[in-house]
Amino acid sequence: MEVVELTKSLISCPSVTPNNEGVLDLLQKELTDMGFTCNRYLFSDTDTPDVDNLFAKIGSGAPHLCFGGHTDVVPVGDENAWNSNPFEATEKNGKLYGRGASDMKSAIAAFVSAVREYLENNEMKGTISLLITNDEEGPAINGTRKVLEEIYKNGEKIDSCLVGEPTCPSNLGEMIKIGRRGSITTTIKVSGKQGHVAYPEWTLNPINPLTSILNTLCNLELDKGTEDFPPSNMEIVKIESSEGATNIVPQTSTGIFNIRYNINHTKESLQSMINEVVSKNINNSDYKVDITFNNSAEPFLTEKGKFTEIVKSSVDEITGMNSSLTTTGGTSDARFFKDYCEVAEFGLIGETAHQIDENVNTEDITKLKEIYSLIITKYFQ
Ligand SMILES: [Zn+2]
Repeated sequence: MEVVELTKSLISCPSVTPNNEGVLDLLQKELTDMGFTCNRYLFSDTDTPDVDNLFAKIGSGAPHLCFGGHTDVVPVGDENAWNSNPFEATEKNGKLYGRGASDMKSAIAAFVSAVREYLENNEMKGTISLLITNDEEGPAINGTRKVLEEIYKNGEKIDSCLVGEPTCPSNLGEMIKIGRRGSITTTIKVSGKQGHVAYPEWTLNPINPLTSILNTLCNLELDKGTEDFPPSNMEIVKIESSEGATNIVPQTSTGIFNIRYNINHTKESLQSMINEVVSKNINNSDYKVDITFNNSAEPFLTEKGKFTEIVKSSVDEITGMNSSLTTTGGTSDARFFKDYCEVAEFGLIGETAHQIDENVNTEDITKLKEIYSLIITKYFQ
């Protein structure tokens, strides 16, 4: 199938996490016809849905280039707000509309088409694989991480991974990602003593220490950033208290904040810094404080070298841009690949990802295929 047609077929499967709705079968058929060996991995875990995954490979031995991607998409939101059916890709004014057009079914189609072209014109020396999960937008528990564990148990070894997430802010070729910040979410719950606001002497207001804790943390300069990373940043995402009547001092008050952090920190160093701020701001031993940390990603940076140079020169050659190697943005499954191999991310423009009327420039899908073709050619030269 031609690259845009393949993108459209992938979009036609309403594969909202965790349901794959035939999208992996479709991809598997395409790859099997090209000579790939395909294995499916269905994983289960407690309190999270079962998820199907696909690992397809062709060739053997080193070097091994793996493409990392996900076929699952986020929900469409208000379907009536879309100008076209989100699961029936529609071309209009040079754009292709549909859920997953940007994030990231077009990139999967582009890589598959690039490999097909490569195999038609070259003899395979080494290994090309695709690790495709249907659990990236969701909890990401039964996805890429488990597939990697499983294939490594069976003796697989990947040298380099190209993740096809949309990395460009507004023009194709602007940005390649070679690392990501870590992400830690902290919940602080302070319990005091509920009572009448008119008699504060009989109460212990939990909001007072909580706000000074949050204020102190907000005003800390965590670091100044590095050559490759922006400064670490904290954002408060929620503040709430248990009661809500205007004449009650509440019993408990909870604050939640997220820190996106660079390689100047570890989750341990941040946890002890937060613990210290908390204890400095709790001035009464009658307060009870519960702190929970959820570190969903560690920061990482791929060393610049042959692989990042292949990706950059291929992007620049096809697009005429001078792409930057950055670490901005949210997390992706690159956080799992980085424990096994070097990893870089390049894909389409991400501006409309997860939005109503998600779309990409149709022309960019073909260009992305050309970029991936060039990366593959250079990689196996
Ligand atoms: Zn994505």
